[in-house]
Order: sequence, then C-alpha cells, then structure tokens
Amino acid sequence: MPVNPAARVAPFTESVIREMTRLALRHNAVNLAQGFPDFPAPDELKEAACRAIQDDINQYAITWGAPALRQAIAAKYLRHYQVELDPDAEITVVCGSTEGMIASLLGIADPGAEIIIFEPWYENYGPDAHLSGAVRRYVRLHPPDWSFDPEELRRAFTPSTRAIIVNSPHNPTGKVFSLDELSLIAALCQEHDALCLTDEIYEHITYDDHRHHPMLTLPGMRERTILVNSMSKTYSVTGWRVGWVIAPPSLTPAIRKVHDFLTVGAAAPLQQAGALALALPDEYYVQLAAGYHERREMLLSILDECNIPALAPAGAYYIMCETRGLGLGTDIEVCRYLIEEIGVAAVPGSSFFSRPADGSPFIRFCFCKRYETLKQAGARLRRMPRR
Ligand code: GLN
Repeated sequence: MPVNPAARVAPFTESVIREMTRLALRHNAVNLAQGFPDFPAPDELKEAACRAIQDDINQYAITWGAPALRQAIAAKYLRHYQVELDPDAEITVVCGSTEGMIASLLGIADPGAEIIIFEPWYENYGPDAHLSGAVRRYVRLHPPDWSFDPEELRRAFTPSTRAIIVNSPHNPTGKVFSLDELSLIAALCQEHDALCLTDEIYEHITYDDHRHHPMLTLPGMRERTILVNSMSKTYSVTGWRVGWVIAPPSLTPAIRKVHDFLTVGAAAPLQQAGALALALPDEYYVQLAAGYHERREMLLSILDECNIPALAPAGAYYIMCETRGLGLGTDIEVCRYLIEEIGVAAVPGSSFFSRPADGSPFIRFCFCKRYETLKQAGARLRRMPRR
C-alpha cells in the first residue's frame, strides 16, 4: 500500500507564517506574524458582496474572470498608470496572488528553467518555483536598506534564465525598488530574453518619498512582464482570495489553462464586489497609505522603547528586526520566547532565506492591525526584561 507522499513535496515545509498564526491562537498571543488586517473591510465592499449573493451571482464566473472585474482592472491601470490593457487578452482573474504566482510559473517555466529570486523572499516563491520544475538562483538584498549588488544580479542571469521575480514593495523587508533598480532589472531581462514576474500586492502601501512603479510601464517591459496582484492587501480582504494576473497576449492562454484546471475560477460574488472596489476614488488609496504610515510609526516606537533594533520599511506592512543582540538565541528561539512568554507572535527570519542560518539574525513583525491590537502588543513587549 503506498504510504509515501510524492517526492515533489519533500523539499519544502508547510508555511511557517501560517504555522505562527496557529501557535499564536494556541498561546493566546497577539498575532503580529501573519500579514492580514484584524480590522473590518470597507463597508461598501461587504455590502456589494452580500448584494451579489442576493442577486444570485452564485454560479461559476467565466474561468478567467467576470467581465465586470476585468474591465474594472483595466480601468484602474489606465487611471493610475496610464497603461491600456485588453481585458480579454491580457487579464486573468485568479484565486489570490498566491494562485496567480504559481499558475504563472507553471505556465511559463519548463523543467530546469532558472528563476531568479531576491533573498530574503516571500516564502511562497521557493515552493512555487520548485513545483514548476524550475531551478532557483538567489540574489541577496543587504540590510539596512536592502540594496543589491548589481554585479551579483548580472551574474545570476545565465542562458537558462527564464524569469526573475520582483516583489515591490517587498515582503518581508519593506524595500521599495527604485526606478534605477527596476531599470537595471529591465535591461538585464531584455539582454537575456527573460521574463519578469512581479508581485505588486503592496503597490498602494508606500511611505515617505517612496513610490511604486509597475515594471510593465518601463520601456520594453510590457511584452515580458507578468504582473501578479490581488484585492487582499489593498482592500483588506485577504480571505476573499481574488487576485489577477496581467500578461502579454502570447502568455495569457498558458496561465489561463493552468488556472482553469487548478481552480476553475475565483468566487463569483466576490469578483462582483471587486469590480466596485477597483473603482474606489483615489482618496481611498491615500487614506490606506496614511493609516499604515501611522501604524508603522506606532510599532517602530514600541520596538525602539523595547530596544529591539528595527529596520524601518519603505513600503508594505512588515518590520524586520535584528534580534541577534537580544541574547535570546536564534530567530526560532526568539519567536518561541515571544509567543510563549510574552504573548506576541512574529515570524522567524529563517523562513525568508534559503539557508536558515542567514535568516537567523532576523524576525518579522507585521503592523496591519487595529491600533488597539498594536497597543496591546506594545504593553506585552514592554514586559520583556531590559538588556
Ligand atoms: N502575505 C502575508 C504574510 O506574509 C500572508 C501570507 C499568507 O498566509 N498567505 O504574512
């Protein structure tokens, strides 16, 4: 009787981020581990979703997305980035950017193809690349500003490079790739005939002078960029699982085929509500970023008070901390101590690196939480013995 799982799942573990949520629940810890808001989604979205169900939008939408949502996506990219998209040939609605990324990789990478990933990385990219049969090559981002060495990036491109994944604003570091950095990546993609997969899920969450630039707006990149995004972070609906992939007409059919057989489609009534969300006025996005800016300041000042050295993010809603000097051991030990003794959950840095030792000096907190939740986390963290 076969009792072993397939060999393809052996090289990776379940998500450490989601495991931290389970541990937080078990120990009644404040969850600053998994990045999802604990405040309500906007009322008009909730009402639109309920209305869609009452209006009997409860059967499969078109596999690659309800026309109303694909049109709203096209309208939003035109409004925000002056990019004209064809909703029929370039946009695929998927079940969150998690599905968007893996469906894209399965659609474009042949076994043995090389995929370049900046390290530290969002934990999904490793298993995504592995499941698509691709080989990963890493380029290091260096603290405190998480810059990369252009020469190291240049060396990572080889004749086998199929794509590079660029996540900006970046999880876990909060780095927002500058236009110069994106231009260098774009030039290398063109020189090596490689694709660029972008995870732009935090596009509207940037601070100070940092601005998000979609890779597909750079010269020569429209035809070689696959953009992955979702409603999750922008509209505070991480449980809806509605995302989208924008890809050139030559690649969209491949991504749609994978998407079709993986999931058939994203939840139909939620796609309907999504059409309304993507048409929200500019003010919504200004408020979103302002709210997160305030929360960032709040968590930074808590960490400062507790002598936990933090690296201020330029975007997204995470803070990487350097915990080596705390005398509490490895990242795993620090996180265990924080959950069990202090009552606050964070994510061990090693879950963002290919070699656990490289991530061991770091832990990641998220601040996409109610002010009350952050205050409570602060009260608990202040109980840590001072060193
Ligand atoms: N993106 C979020 C994080 O990094 C949530 C990840 C997830 O569980 N899908 O915490």
